[in-house]
Amino acid sequence: MSEEYDFDVAIVGAGPAGIAAALTLARAGIETVVLERGQYPGSKNVSGAALYGPVLHELVPNYWEDDKSFERYLTTKKISLLSESRSVTIDADLRNFSQPPYNGVTVIRPKFDRWLAEKAEEAGAMILPDTMVEDLVWKEKQVVGVKSGEEELKAKLIIIAEGANSLLVEKANLMKKPKPKHYALGMKETYELSSKKIEERFHLSENEGISNEILGHTKGIPGGGFYYTNKETVSFGLILNMDVLTKKKLEAPDVFEEFKNHSYISKLLKDAKMVEYSAHIIPEGGFKHMPKLYGNGVLVAGDAAGMVLNAGLYIEGINFALESGRIAGESAIEILKSNKFNKSGTKLYKKNLKKSFAYKDLKTFRRASHFLENKHMFTTVPDLLTVLMEKLLRNDGKPRKRIVMTAIGHILRKTPLWGMFKLLLGAVRSL
Ligand SMILES: Cc1cc2nc3c(=O)[nH]c(=O)nc-3n(C[C@H](O)[C@H](O)[C@H](O)COP(=O)(O)OP(=O)(O)OC[C@H]3O[C@@H](n4cnc5c(N)ncnc54)[C@H](O)[C@@H]3O)c2cc1C
Repeated sequence: MSEEYDFDVAIVGAGPAGIAAALTLARAGIETVVLERGQYPGSKNVSGAALYGPVLHELVPNYWEDDKSFERYLTTKKISLLSESRSVTIDADLRNFSQPPYNGVTVIRPKFDRWLAEKAEEAGAMILPDTMVEDLVWKEKQVVGVKSGEEELKAKLIIIAEGANSLLVEKANLMKKPKPKHYALGMKETYELSSKKIEERFHLSENEGISNEILGHTKGIPGGGFYYTNKETVSFGLILNMDVLTKKKLEAPDVFEEFKNHSYISKLLKDAKMVEYSAHIIPEGGFKHMPKLYGNGVLVAGDAAGMVLNAGLYIEGINFALESGRIAGESAIEILKSNKFNKSGTKLYKKNLKKSFAYKDLKTFRRASHFLENKHMFTTVPDLLTVLMEKLLRNDGKPRKRIVMTAIGHILRKTPLWGMFKLLLGAVRSL
């Protein structure tokens, strides 16, 4: 390495994106440093979290052999709709998901991020905790390092992986100021329950887990709730669109409290002790609002690149971060070989990323974020279906109408037809 540089590659952020990049680079013998503002990787990180096994297996082969890597494998997925005093749930029990590499696993981020970071350190990467990067170092129009307080650290290439709402992406001139409507606020609480209670309450065998996505009962704010089971805790949370939250002049903790008091939720959390609360923002602009992914001397990965998919059934960011981080690492190895650190060299990252499932999924679901802003999705649809179920199942001693006629009559009476037509059309175009 030339004396001008301290490292070949400097990575900002030790989340899944930054560590995936560091692990890939260190395994190839590249001098890599990761700067992390938290006390340790994962100390500042908030996620549900459920992540997809095959992506992790690609980065850390046979990850499941290390019991620090995950909590439970997911065999059950539920999708629930809530109205004020009712709920309807679709329950998918998927036994085929119980074999490694597992379709999905739950993780606790401080544990998971730390475990992944240890793998990167074992491979030779240096991780500098308690180091907040505040700015970039420029040499003419080229980024050549990062600044933390008075300190400067020079590197041939910088990977920005600092998560949502990245100031460094703005400073690198890769994105204009983002709008609140492209962000959601995610709140998460962790509840303690013994593994025996978790297995009894959620009908699970040992090591099996459940994830449940929940729509409705959010005061009409686009978003939704979730819970995931860990070994001895349950992660429970709510994600709300920031723009609508502000416009409705509502306080997020109040909406969360009311959501938790719904009977569907409260009985799940009965007698469970809350041990942690955290909140974080989530980029929800999707494909159309991603920043430029590369510049002179920089690559951008994970949430900093807006790589989160919210398509109703899935809220995914960790596997996109792992995948984009890994590809940023692989591209950086090639860029270092070519010695071309300006845009003509770094554009290789975008070319490589375009071939990945991450980029392709974001493109496929590029209209989903706009579709999920439709208020009927969070109000009319849950109301309609839950009330319809009650109607169909109620026995009040009177002769019943045919099921189909009851359903059609209810839908025609209760539905804003034009609004629902637009919703259906949106679903066909977006999902
Ligand atoms: C409530 C909630 C629930 C979620 N649930 C899921 C889920 O179940 N499944 C899923 O796939 N995704 C989920 N997500 C999204 C997921 O958390 C993110 O997509 C993922 O963490 C992105 O990884 P990342 O590495 O890009 O960023 P992050 O995980 O945010 O990591 C960025 C790192 O950079 C550090 N950092 C930031 N700024 C600086 C700086 N200037 N200098 C140094 N260090 C810095 C941070 O401390 C952090 O460690 C959820 C998000 C929230 C908020």
